[in-house]
Amino acid sequence: MLRVVVLGAAAGGGVPQWNCGCPVCRAARGEHPRLRSTQTSIAVSADGDHWFLVNASPDLRQQVLATPQLHPREGLLRHSPIAGVVLTNGEVDAVAGLLSMREGSPFTIYGHAKVLAILKANSIFDVLSETNVKRQPIEVDRAFEPKLPDGTPSGIEILPFAVPGKAAWYLRETAHPKGRDSEGDTLGLRIRDKATDKHFYFVAACAHVTDELTARLAGTPLLFFDGTVWRDDELIANGLSTKTGQSMGHIAMSEKGGAIESLAGLDIDRKLFLHINNSNPALMCGSREREIAERAGWQIPADGTEIVL
Ligand SMILES: [Zn+2]
Repeated sequence: MLRVVVLGAAAGGGVPQWNCGCPVCRAARGEHPRLRSTQTSIAVSADGDHWFLVNASPDLRQQVLATPQLHPREGLLRHSPIAGVVLTNGEVDAVAGLLSMREGSPFTIYGHAKVLAILKANSIFDVLSETNVKRQPIEVDRAFEPKLPDGTPSGIEILPFAVPGKAAWYLRETAHPKGRDSEGDTLGLRIRDKATDKHFYFVAACAHVTDELTARLAGTPLLFFDGTVWRDDELIANGLSTKTGQSMGHIAMSEKGGAIESLAGLDIDRKLFLHINNSNPALMCGSREREIAERAGWQIPADGTEIVL
């Protein structure tokens, strides 16, 4: 049995974002507190006792507090059910939560060499001593089984694959510590329970949908997909930023070639958007955009949503 908990569904900054006065952030602070969402991460477990995070968001502390499955086991002085963190990119909203995981508990960080090089180049991550916190390189198209802290297999198989994307935004004008040419900055994951063969896909950053990706995702029972912006120029049109979705490596939900259109008709049982920016009008219940997304079979999950496969 594969258990998945959505720890957070928002893009960088969360909802509301500390310095944002857009309509969604204002509503989240005021009359619609249910709009509040922390930055994107999920927790996955095959046995219900040991959990693996996909990405460690800056809101990790709050997410762990809100998720009883991730609390220390009763009677133990120091303990965490979190056995590992799988990183799909090196953005702030995917790695900054690692800094909240210091204090000596053992776990393993799984990341592509390009992402691990970013951690290595930033000495603040040395607070996670490599004696306790191993850094395990993962490779595109090579499945691996993360281990529990005592070395036993977790029963979960993870297949990382390359998706169109960008290196972390903060590296755009500086040298990437591992070079710019090769893939690995943005990964999708296929996560499978070895005992039951149930699986799902996690693709929370993706610049566009390729034929290869649609062939891969067709027929899957569960998909988490990049829902950063409703339209590519949304941040500019709302006067919030000069960035387009594409410049940040994110596909739009709507528009020609957007996620809703590109992933229609693929016989996917359950489709959920993650990494939803606070500028995205589909966050607002009752909005035209929300209706279009839901009519196309997409859900926008609340933090804490649990799915069992
Ligand atoms: Zn906002």
